[in-house]
Amino acid sequence: MTKLRLAIVGAGPAGIYAADLLVKAERHFDVSIDLFEQLPAPYGLVRYGVAPDHPRIKGIINALREVLDSGVIRFFGNVRYGVDITLDDLKKHYNAVIFSTGAIRDASLEIPGIDLEGSYGAADFVSWFDGHPDVPRTWPLEAQSVAVIGNGNVALDVSRILAKHADDLLVTEIPTNVYEGLKASPVTDVHVFGRRGPAQVKFTPLELRELGEMNDVDMIVHDEDFELDEASKAAIETNKQVFVINKVLNQWRTREVGQASRRLHLHFWAKPLSIESDGAGRVAAIRYERTRPDGAGGVVGTGEIREIPIQALYRAVGYFGSPLDEIPFDEQHGVIPNHEGQVLDAHNEIVPGVYATGWIKRGPVGLIGHTKSDAMETLSHLVRDQANWWSPAEPAEEAIPALLASRGVEYTDLDGWHRLDEHELALGASDAHPRLRVKVVPRDEMVRISRA
Ligand SMILES: Cc1cc2nc3c(=O)[nH]c(=O)nc-3n(C[C@H](O)[C@H](O)[C@H](O)COP(=O)(O)OP(=O)(O)OC[C@H]3O[C@@H](n4cnc5c(N)ncnc54)[C@H](O)[C@@H]3O)c2cc1C
Repeated sequence: MTKLRLAIVGAGPAGIYAADLLVKAERHFDVSIDLFEQLPAPYGLVRYGVAPDHPRIKGIINALREVLDSGVIRFFGNVRYGVDITLDDLKKHYNAVIFSTGAIRDASLEIPGIDLEGSYGAADFVSWFDGHPDVPRTWPLEAQSVAVIGNGNVALDVSRILAKHADDLLVTEIPTNVYEGLKASPVTDVHVFGRRGPAQVKFTPLELRELGEMNDVDMIVHDEDFELDEASKAAIETNKQVFVINKVLNQWRTREVGQASRRLHLHFWAKPLSIESDGAGRVAAIRYERTRPDGAGGVVGTGEIREIPIQALYRAVGYFGSPLDEIPFDEQHGVIPNHEGQVLDAHNEIVPGVYATGWIKRGPVGLIGHTKSDAMETLSHLVRDQANWWSPAEPAEEAIPALLASRGVEYTDLDGWHRLDEHELALGASDAHPRLRVKVVPRDEMVRISRA
């Protein structure tokens, strides 16, 4: 019986599900899996993307942890592919590699003024409030009036965290520096902009409804945005999700507002045109054009231009993958080009031994659960492709820790993650406001605790 020595790069849900499915798959060979992760802790965007006030979703970590604890998978954290380990190394020690490196950057938005001071990408802000070790500890929260561009769930996360009172987040796992930053925020108004109408948003109903439950925050929607065209009416009638979203929004139209100290405004049919400067290079206003349906599923400008004063802007228009050393990359879509997870070169030929799964395979859309079906598809090829696997010169498992140690890489392992996990749980339990966890943020501290 042959043995598949598999390297997986990226310990987010896609990589962990791939490992789990392979272990459980019907196959005619043994497996030994090494999971490499650039951060000292596993779980990718479940730890560093999902909002801290979504403990139910964060709880998926428990299922992912069970996979890691199954005893078949070795975890090498704080190891960056392209820096600490290369493609040549992988070919020397493994039969194949799956890249599951996700997407962490913001997609760009080409409008004048987007580079002004006070204009930020949602991904950077998310990394800050979720305690990502590689972003600065402080975030400039000085604006009273803020714009968020985008009509997806990340836009909702960003606007909710901006609008919510910091004390209402104290029950969550937000790091102390994040609580202190949010507590000092003078924000009173958060304006969310979407080019299309209420029946075309990409929000999910649960996340939208949650906005209306925030303490001391009024939801402001505008009657003029609810003059629905035929396509919108049809969507509400035929699509359950759109139906619920429409219901939630309409409930807010009838709510009494005016008592809360903060407001979250939803502007539909509003296409941002430019960000205006205060003359000193700082964000001062957002200019947008009212749109209307074009009858073919899109929108056209009405020529009516409006402006709202703001002091900060967040673009939540999607995430974007990053290229990996020596691996083909589709610059336009921010993914590794592939056929059902088999990586393709510039001539559309399959690259032997190299696979992709998760957001880096199909782009940054979809929920955590989708990465499971994704992994299934990739693995179905990996398992059948035995003739294409690499033939490693040094397949021994001991070679990897020795290689990393010889390069001075301070890698963390599964025991180390357990130590850090327990440390964070203990910090949470002993906090002045006891909660499930308090995250350790600085990378060197994460590594120190893990390797203690
Ligand atoms: C702000 C936000 C909120 C979200 N909220 C939800 C939600 O509430 N519910 C839900 O179901 N889904 C949510 N999602 C979607 C969910 O996070 C993704 O579907 C999922 O995380 C994608 O998994 P992945 O493994 O492909 O990528 P990731 O989770 O990004 O994992 C990729 C991993 O690869 C590592 N990596 C990258 N480059 C390297 C390298 N060179 N070397 C080594 N390691 C590397 C990264 O550090 C990371 O740990 C949210 C996403 C975002 C952005």
